[in-house]
Amino acid sequence: MRGVHTPCYDALVIGGGPGGSCAANLLAQQGLKVVVFEKEVFPRFHIGESLLPYNRGIFEELGVLDALAKAGFPRKTGAQFHLGNGSAGTRFQFRQGRFNRETEIFQVERARFDEILLRQAAKAGAEVHEGWTAGRIEADSDPITLEVKDPAGTLHTFRGRFLVDASGRGNLSGNQQGLRIMHPRLKKLAIYAHFTGVELDPGEAGGDTVIYRLENQWFWIIPISAEKTSVGLVTDRDAFQQSRARPEEAFQAAVRSSPDLARRLAGARRLGELEVTADFSYANRTFASPRVIRVGDAAAFIDPIFSSGVFLAMHSARLAAQAIVQAHRQGTDGLAQFRRYERRMRAALAQYSRMVELYYTHPFIELFLQPRGRLDIPSAVNAMLAGELQGGWKVRWRLNLFYWMVRLQRRIGFVPHLSHAPVVPQPETTPAVG
Ligand SMILES: Cc1cc2nc3c(=O)[nH]c(=O)nc-3n(C[C@H](O)[C@H](O)[C@H](O)COP(=O)(O)OP(=O)(O)OC[C@H]3O[C@@H](n4cnc5c(N)ncnc54)[C@H](O)[C@@H]3O)c2cc1C
Repeated sequence: MRGVHTPCYDALVIGGGPGGSCAANLLAQQGLKVVVFEKEVFPRFHIGESLLPYNRGIFEELGVLDALAKAGFPRKTGAQFHLGNGSAGTRFQFRQGRFNRETEIFQVERARFDEILLRQAAKAGAEVHEGWTAGRIEADSDPITLEVKDPAGTLHTFRGRFLVDASGRGNLSGNQQGLRIMHPRLKKLAIYAHFTGVELDPGEAGGDTVIYRLENQWFWIIPISAEKTSVGLVTDRDAFQQSRARPEEAFQAAVRSSPDLARRLAGARRLGELEVTADFSYANRTFASPRVIRVGDAAAFIDPIFSSGVFLAMHSARLAAQAIVQAHRQGTDGLAQFRRYERRMRAALAQYSRMVELYYTHPFIELFLQPRGRLDIPSAVNAMLAGELQGGWKVRWRLNLFYWMVRLQRRIGFVPHLSHAPVVPQPETTPAVG
């Protein structure tokens, strides 16, 4: 059975995650006729729970800031990075970053967060279909046609002047056109679950994202509600496959290798199965074509170490909505606006990709975990961790200097060298009795 929907929409949106609901909300606010297709029925589990302070302005534009503040999500005012053996560590407190205009945000349980955002898109005027799966896209025609399967399995054809692909790592339009290019080196795999009873820091720091860097892998600890904490391991995909370890074994072995991590998880209880996700870090060859624009993970995805995914998804959705509104008003296919969108999005991605690639090198870790106040480089790094994309030259030159120091750290040793070797406890010295 097949249904053709005769009204032609201004925009068809695939996916009701942060990227899709943000684009749909902003387009509807501008009076465009928008429909969203989301294959799941919300609330549903999703990974990606640590947000960046610069998400805040977008929440205000969407009209969800109050609802998020009332939802009781933990406050995130900083991010901590530690070496697994406990020999070094640092806390970036956003309010201490000299260039940060935004200094705090929430950690979220995505099931609730995504639902709040999607419901708000509907309130703004978007038509939302949950449990509807988008399929074949016919983008050569005007209007575009999109095949969508409803929950009963019936196929429908929808027509729209523009299409926003926000299908996340499902990468619907990119895969249909063979555009996805995997990152050549960052072949990682994540093993994660929600826990209760994880030991968090007292006070404000208890809302931080806490990262433990082991030799070739790292852990995140993200409190997402009063009871739940998200804990995950990111490891080398090939090494994991060669080890033939089960996810549970790899996870536990990594926990045991870090006394601090073992302590934090000693009284913790897992709340569900361990999830495994592989094949992140990719970009599509293009982010747009006439009438079609890809946002969030459906454009590109970078390793989650700096918690940039949701912020970049919403930032790109906001830029995409602006581009569509302009094209809609001018009556064009949007390509000129979409090219500008792609340039801006690639520039934002490049800022994080550069830091992510360096994160996997030892000299970066040495400098990153031992920040020095000279020239206020830590403030520039702090700005990146907060999501400051418009910091301008004062942030850029400091970051460039930092990256240059990373390259020379091995030879020059700007800060003491660090080791991943287990720290041997020193015998307690007995004070001399005189
Ligand atoms: C291991 C891991 C850890 C992460 N940690 C963080 C973190 O701490 N902080 C952070 O900011 N980001 C993190 N991320 C990244 C974050 O999850 C994503 O960047 C973010 O969710 C992107 O939002 P999106 O809207 O583009 O895609 P998604 O959130 O994935 O939303 C896409 C939506 O599209 C729907 N969909 C897909 N295909 C179809 C279809 N054919 N038809 C209809 N609907 C469809 C999906 O059901 C989904 O709801 C992490 C990612 C991974 C893999």
